[in-house]
Amino acid sequence: MFPLTVENKRVAQLLLSTGTCPRCIFRFCGVDFHAPYKLPYKELLSELQKFLEAEEDELVSEVPNPPPKKIRLQEPEDWTDGMDSLSQNGEGKLSVTEDGSSSSKNSNLNVCNVCLGILQDFCEKEFIKKVCQKVEASGFEFTNLVLSVSFPPQLSVREHAAWLLVKQEMGKQSLSLGRNDIVQLKEAYKWITHPLFSEELGVPIDGKSLFEVSVVFAHPETVEDCHFLRAICPECFKPAKNKQSVFTRMAVMKALNKIKEEDFRKQFPCPPDSPKAVCTVLEIECAHGAVFVAGRYNKYSRNLPQTPWIIDGERKLESSVEELISDHLLKVFKAESFNFSSSGREDVDVRTLGNGRPFAIELVNPHRVHFTSQEIKELQQKINNSSNKIQVRDLQLVTREAIGHMKEGEEGKTKTYSALIWTNKAIQRKDIEFLDDIKDLKIDQKTPLRVLHRRPLAVRTRIIHSMETCYVDEHHFRLSLKTQAGTYIKEFVHGDFGRTKPNIGSLMEVTADILELDVESVDVDWPPALDD
Ligand SMILES: [Zn+2]
Repeated sequence: MFPLTVENKRVAQLLLSTGTCPRCIFRFCGVDFHAPYKLPYKELLSELQKFLEAEEDELVSEVPNPPPKKIRLQEPEDWTDGMDSLSQNGEGKLSVTEDGSSSSKNSNLNVCNVCLGILQDFCEKEFIKKVCQKVEASGFEFTNLVLSVSFPPQLSVREHAAWLLVKQEMGKQSLSLGRNDIVQLKEAYKWITHPLFSEELGVPIDGKSLFEVSVVFAHPETVEDCHFLRAICPECFKPAKNKQSVFTRMAVMKALNKIKEEDFRKQFPCPPDSPKAVCTVLEIECAHGAVFVAGRYNKYSRNLPQTPWIIDGERKLESSVEELISDHLLKVFKAESFNFSSSGREDVDVRTLGNGRPFAIELVNPHRVHFTSQEIKELQQKINNSSNKIQVRDLQLVTREAIGHMKEGEEGKTKTYSALIWTNKAIQRKDIEFLDDIKDLKIDQKTPLRVLHRRPLAVRTRIIHSMETCYVDEHHFRLSLKTQAGTYIKEFVHGDFGRTKPNIGSLMEVTADILELDVESVDVDWPPALDD
């Protein structure tokens, strides 16, 4: 059913005669149901013309309070004015002849002076197909999508001008029109195109989808439309970082809210001029939100840093834990990049044994995201087969939120270590036994010299919960320690020139040094253990 009523007739006539498209006319008439917008453009136009050509008397009789005759007599004159202004623009001519036939067969080629073609060409199936071809060629795996469209900011200026025009016309009929009574361009565009996209791609449109297709429109011909606003409202157009132009949509909207109606009318034509060309498509881009993989790793090498070790731009060691794991993930997920995080870290010469250290990897812009647990298992196997320096277990897909568990309450967790210790003085079994009896020893650690370049100088207190010794020979013994997370173990052994107090050396009254250190366990019960 055609959605306009007699009340809309004058506004519709005015807008059509000034070069506005039928769908924009619906918007300004507040048509807020979807169906009429979806009609084919040509059909819409001819329906609209039929409506406007209907017998004046017929329509007037339906008006509850017919306007005084005097005003009605002026109507034809007004209409002619409108058409004259159109003729000057050369296009958009719509002449309704006496016998009711119209000579506007080519009207659908005229570019709308309000939406600049957005609700015309860019709602057509051909355009939707073009976008969908790009989406399919992008190689992303997706089961739904979110569509984001960006219109040129000057559309808001034109929309404002058309609003003032319509408001004035309605004022003549003692009617009012608030800005919110107009259906937003974005809304109407959505109503028309979403079902078409959905049908073409065979997946639903879902605002929560991680897969985003963004279409950016521009209209070079009218970029200067916004410029007068800057003179009137300079504070709205301050240069901002990452913005190419000060004329952002937000800034334009802000200025339009501030500007007085009469000032606007002085500076900008109401109705807006008809443009020569429709918008151009600046870009069609696809992107997938990050996905997350977690697991635990063991590190069996004393020559492997956790993250790439680069000093002054020079790489010190050829690989790292994060690369040995992430390189495989990047390939399989076809992701752009990754971010690695873990529950604490070990030094380059420290091994991580036992159940391993929890880690999580964010895969940025992945093209593949759906994996069965079997496929993830195979991926883990692939990582494990590729290097004997590391092994991975419990590899699984996790949510962004779940990663919080890994960092949660890290301070309260305990870690278990095993250290090989050297002493300068010869020792007997009995010289070390007393360490086994020490429980919950409080130590103060000044920031170690070796990390001072990247951490602030501070003193922190840590707890050595328990120790267990194992005698090796006169100058060596093994020490197992259970400590609070964040304890500097090496410093607790050699004392760091007295910066850690007490330390193994001071307790034993010898000079002690640490030859080897292994992390035996990291007591974080995340991610959940998987059956192998
Ligand atoms: Zn339009």
